[in-house]
Amino acid sequence: MGKSHRQSELYFDESKKYIPGGVNSPVRAFRSVGMSPLFIERGAGSKVYDVDGNEYIDYVGSWGPLILGHAHPVVIEALKKVTEHGTSFGAPTKIETEMAKLVCEIIPAMEIVRMVNSGTEATMSALRLARGYTKRNKILKFEGCYHGHADSLLIKAGSGVATLALPDSPGVPKDVASHTITVPYNDLEAIKLAFEHYGDDLAAVIVEPVAGNMGVVPPKAGFLEGLRKITEDYGTLLIFDEVMTGFRVDYHCAQARFGITPDLTTLGKVIGGGLPVGAYGGKKEIMEQIAPAGPIYQAGTLSGNPLAMTAGYTTLLELGKPGVYEELERKSARLEAGVRQNCEDLGIPHWINRVGSMVGLFFTGEEVINYETAKTSDTERFARYFRAMIDEGVSLPPSQFEGMFVSTAHTDEDIEFTIAANRKALQQL
Ligand code: PMP
Repeated sequence: MGKSHRQSELYFDESKKYIPGGVNSPVRAFRSVGMSPLFIERGAGSKVYDVDGNEYIDYVGSWGPLILGHAHPVVIEALKKVTEHGTSFGAPTKIETEMAKLVCEIIPAMEIVRMVNSGTEATMSALRLARGYTKRNKILKFEGCYHGHADSLLIKAGSGVATLALPDSPGVPKDVASHTITVPYNDLEAIKLAFEHYGDDLAAVIVEPVAGNMGVVPPKAGFLEGLRKITEDYGTLLIFDEVMTGFRVDYHCAQARFGITPDLTTLGKVIGGGLPVGAYGGKKEIMEQIAPAGPIYQAGTLSGNPLAMTAGYTTLLELGKPGVYEELERKSARLEAGVRQNCEDLGIPHWINRVGSMVGLFFTGEEVINYETAKTSDTERFARYFRAMIDEGVSLPPSQFEGMFVSTAHTDEDIEFTIAANRKALQQL
């Protein structure tokens, strides 16, 4: 039984000597699923291959960026070409303007946009801007939402913090944490109360318009509308953190899918096409407070890097072709239906949330609407399921609190294979 992971285990023993926990980002260590992480050698389309020569259908997609699948030929070709001219200049390049223009065209609420190097940088910078612009101190975020690892956002955070069941991180000063107000996702009443207490000093509300870091949790009808209304009433900026949902749940992002216009938007993942990129943008009047147009400082040695811009730009052009999102929707809906049928047939308590190509299977019978209900999931069962899926040749995000990402590279055969693998894995639980 089982695939051999001998080489991965050996590499992990070695990496632990030189890298904290052996990895450069916590969830990669597979801590909560009870096995050694797979060291990946290469990817092609919907598949990844580990150092032991095992093949997997991949639903991690580098945690979201690879919506076109691994090593997409058009992206790789563009990268090869641009690399020959040099890798970084620290000076303006034409591709940066082309990229900014394209992003602003796709997302009308982004009148102008600043490129950075990660989602963390994007949200951290957007918060500084919101505070500088409103001259207020506090921010409001939602329990179980993750917005990167800036100090003021590591409060009741999702993603790896949820996976490892960590308390709020040591190293974040109490004074800093005291400026972050947290309330449950999808709970407008709690938001109203928070605004009654802190509204006059709230610079921003930051929200994942579809939460993707406590597993996948869609916004309830009226939730985002309620947020838009109350932030307007109090002069608080509404920041949509679309690092995960951007170009994922719709070409024009979650804000188009749900018809809400935020003041600021943060982007990451897909916008970099697999290279390190983040971005933040919004109303010109607000964004022009950023240096050198205005006094609020934010900078980056590698920001707007030509390789990263090229990968992102090429990816966005591919995504703009007709039918892309319809196909993603069709395949993701089939995956959802197949997995649901399996769970029902086998009597496994389950709750499945899906928005476009973000799919979340929770091992709980409860409706999952926020972090509290996400936590009712049986994480032990998830760990066994995860390992069984690896044995079947399917690579899932190694945590109950992360969603699966379907890419344009997944074929109908991949989806059917995955549904069959899911059935076999569930039978072993
Ligand atoms: N915001 C959201 C919604 C995210 O999902 C993430 C990463 N998973 C981030 C911010 C942070 O992005 P990065 O890891 O690129 O810093």
